Amino acid sequence: MTTSARAGAAPPALDWTHRLTQLGPRFFTRLQPTPLAAPRWAARNESLRAELNWPADLWDHHHLQAFAGNALLSGSDPLATVYSGHQFGQWAGQLGDGRAIWLGEAASSQGPQEIQLKGAGRTPYSRGGDGRAVLRSSIREYLCSEAMHGLGIPTTRALCLVASPEPVRRETLESAAVVVRVAPSFLRFGHFEQFSAPGDEASLRALADHAVRHHLPECHARAALWQGNVYAALLDVVQERTAKLLAQWQAVGFCHGVMNTDNMSLLGLTIDYGPFQFMDGFDPGHICNHSDHQGRYAYGRQPQVAYWNLFCLAQALAPLIGDQDMTLHVLEGYKTLFPRALGDAMRAKLGLTGALAPESERAADWTLVEDLLQFMASEKTDFTLFWRQLSQAVLQQSASEVLTPQGWSAVTDHVQDRARLLAWLDRYSARAGQAHLAAMGQQMLRTNPKFVLRNHLAELAIRQAKDGDFSEIDTLHHLLQSPFDEHPGFEAYAHLPPDWAGQLEISCSS
Ligand code: AMP
Ligand code: MG
Repeated sequence: MTTSARAGAAPPALDWTHRLTQLGPRFFTRLQPTPLAAPRWAARNESLRAELNWPADLWDHHHLQAFAGNALLSGSDPLATVYSGHQFGQWAGQLGDGRAIWLGEAASSQGPQEIQLKGAGRTPYSRGGDGRAVLRSSIREYLCSEAMHGLGIPTTRALCLVASPEPVRRETLESAAVVVRVAPSFLRFGHFEQFSAPGDEASLRALADHAVRHHLPECHARAALWQGNVYAALLDVVQERTAKLLAQWQAVGFCHGVMNTDNMSLLGLTIDYGPFQFMDGFDPGHICNHSDHQGRYAYGRQPQVAYWNLFCLAQALAPLIGDQDMTLHVLEGYKTLFPRALGDAMRAKLGLTGALAPESERAADWTLVEDLLQFMASEKTDFTLFWRQLSQAVLQQSASEVLTPQGWSAVTDHVQDRARLLAWLDRYSARAGQAHLAAMGQQMLRTNPKFVLRNHLAELAIRQAKDGDFSEIDTLHHLLQSPFDEHPGFEAYAHLPPDWAGQLEISCSS
């Protein structure tokens, strides 16, 4: 790619393809983004740009204007896609990209990547909404996408964030922003529900074929398990990815907050960051979304809700699979895959991986995990800090000749019921074997993050940004990109939340 521009016509910085548009107009509406006044960069994700091997021109003035919706990127083909969904357990009918505008797929060193402008104005699917996103929630989405990636959790990515003084009305008057999101595909469960609900089997099949061909080619091999039925294989692959994703969420204490079927990615990515939260004090019933009065999406319910959502996807795909028993059989897989994935993730948090995690110990290890989680819940220990302290305690203990209660102080100093934790630590160290503690401690420090995007950290970045200073976004991005590193000098970012954080109310409003 060249950066030299001849007078008048700059060469396209990105190399576009548009496989989605081959599906035809039933799947989307072509339209232009709505211009946004006086845009400025609030954040540029230089590491993602470099990862994708996209040119540095992306940060030039023309791209700033294009990402704000004030100019067209040559070669892009802006559109909004239509999808449906179940929201809070109810069929919500047609939804669609109400404020996200798809620009196309840009070639990258990691294959074609779809680019979306979130907050780029009204679309035919806006349903009375203004098509905008506020700076507050856009900063949260930008940072959390990258935090999840830093944790090794599949997610849509955030390329950059553009802020504008244009006012946007929510509960109060706020200002607008656009998050430029990137993913191999933004397809959701709801895209399939959209065509299945009215019985449009031809469109449903075209969509499923598109997904398999361009995004989930592993379905072809998987079909061998399902009598050659590639649509059963599609459900199976999505089911497996979703199970693994949920295990990863649970293991870091991530609450999504709005697990509606329109917010579930077909690729098993974390998508649509709204009222999410990394839990502070451990509480399986924790509800992060202030608007979720019933606690449908409480932390402890997420795995079950994912299964419910997969059931909706299964219903949508059923006409293609054409075999009710097989459809149900595929879904059954989640009931073993999720517990296995969670078991593996929790064992890894305890440093039990590879040869240290034989199949024969799986059930006993799960008891160990459950007992620890019960202890943590009874104390409401801080989820992130506790695992990090445990990792440090294991390393500390490994240095002494014999195990002593004092050797666990890095974790026991921070709890109320020290005796109960020490009793658990006795069982744990007996299971692990003292000889392994040093290696385990090292591995645990690569598994249990020091830094997560706590609400109060995001809030501080938001407050500064509202005053025109975006530097805190970069600082947080820097830490969250490598959340397992110590980052000397940034200890405060790993501390317990301040008292005022308890008052933060995060709702669907974004
Ligand atoms: P969410 O709960 O953010 O996943 O959004 C649910 C639906 O509402 C999706 O179809 C969104 O595109 C749409 N939506 C949310 N906020 C807005 C807005 N401000 N303007 C237009 N559509 C919106
Ligand atoms: Mg959504």
